[in-house]
Amino acid sequence: MTNVKATNITWHEGNLKRTERWDALKCTGATLWFTGLSASGKSTIASALEQVLVQMGVNCYRLDGDNVRHGLNKNLGFSAEDRAENIRRIGEVARLFADGGAVTLTSFISPYRADRDLCRELHGNDGLGFFEVFVDTPIEVCEQRDPKGLYKKARAGEITGFTGIDDPYEAPNTPELVLETANKSVDECVQECVNFLRERGVFRG
Ligand code: ADP
Repeated sequence: MTNVKATNITWHEGNLKRTERWDALKCTGATLWFTGLSASGKSTIASALEQVLVQMGVNCYRLDGDNVRHGLNKNLGFSAEDRAENIRRIGEVARLFADGGAVTLTSFISPYRADRDLCRELHGNDGLGFFEVFVDTPIEVCEQRDPKGLYKKARAGEITGFTGIDDPYEAPNTPELVLETANKSVDECVQECVNFLRERGVFRG
């Protein structure tokens, strides 16, 4: 699906520079890419972090796996090819949000290293910060949590191609941040993210 079909198109450079936008809006765009098994805690942490950041006055927007599959990516399933396209589109959307000045939080299993690396590259080529957050929760813990009952269904054979059960999860080799959620509260994980963003200079003022 990533075949280039559009021809005779030319990039139109706008008048407004990114730095002009960011300075005027007092924001710094970047993407925090959460990856991990289903039920590892990506959505819970990203959602709590979004609230904390916005309350602090940080321009922040969250793209959530299931939510995006309701709209933009509703025509994609869970084959390796569709998963790749799902992540590629999210990578492009995150890049646009980051360019617009938002601290963009993405919470997708994004199980394949190559797909995440592509998103990193998309940001890097555009001079935008991309930080991979590995939500490192052992599968036993995820399966015990099972908030949506998906592991139960996967074990019963009602769902196939389920990450961690009969589909692989490739953990990041060098994530910028690792959150070990098994023995930490959601608030502690959120605080680690806030500290990390501060260290990386993503906050202003
Ligand atoms: P994912 O988005 O990775 O599929 P969810 O956020 O939907 O995962 O579910 C994670 C579950 O784990 C939630 O029920 C949440 O309350 C629970 N949980 C327990 N401890 C933590 C923690 N430290 N961080 C995130 N979630 C946690």
